[in-house]
Amino acid sequence: MDVQKAFCPSCDHEVRVTVTPDPSVGGGHANVADGHQVVCLDFVEGCAERNCPLSGLPPIVMGMRLARTGIEPDRWKTIHALCDGCGEPRDMEIVDSTYAFCTQCGTTNRWMVIDLDDDSRVAIMEKRWERYGGPPY
Ligand SMILES: [Zn+2]
Repeated sequence: MDVQKAFCPSCDHEVRVTVTPDPSVGGGHANVADGHQVVCLDFVEGCAERNCPLSGLPPIVMGMRLARTGIEPDRWKTIHALCDGCGEPRDMEIVDSTYAFCTQCGTTNRWMVIDLDDDSRVAIMEKRWERYGGPPY
């Protein structure tokens, strides 16, 4: 993977940037992001407040790209919740404080945690594809 440094005016420091490989090289899995897309490896939750200045993309798109590259998977915490896409309880990769995506069907879910009367908490999902007119990548 070819990683380069670039100055991010949004974060006000250098970030690591890579370009996704051509999917035809690695065997091309349907869930892998398309090739030749800019991916910021230092995408963080704080980036969610404005468009990424390096790519011009809404943060949800960059978050999705990064998640789909499989790069640095430890960065992604998962929650177990019912997916709006496949309707099954699944492990969701948390993109930021608002979005998580289903590792099984790839649906982007809006998630939130609600407190129950018995002091337990549960994560719930809301399908958000419609807002972006399709899968956000
Ligand atoms: Zn799903």
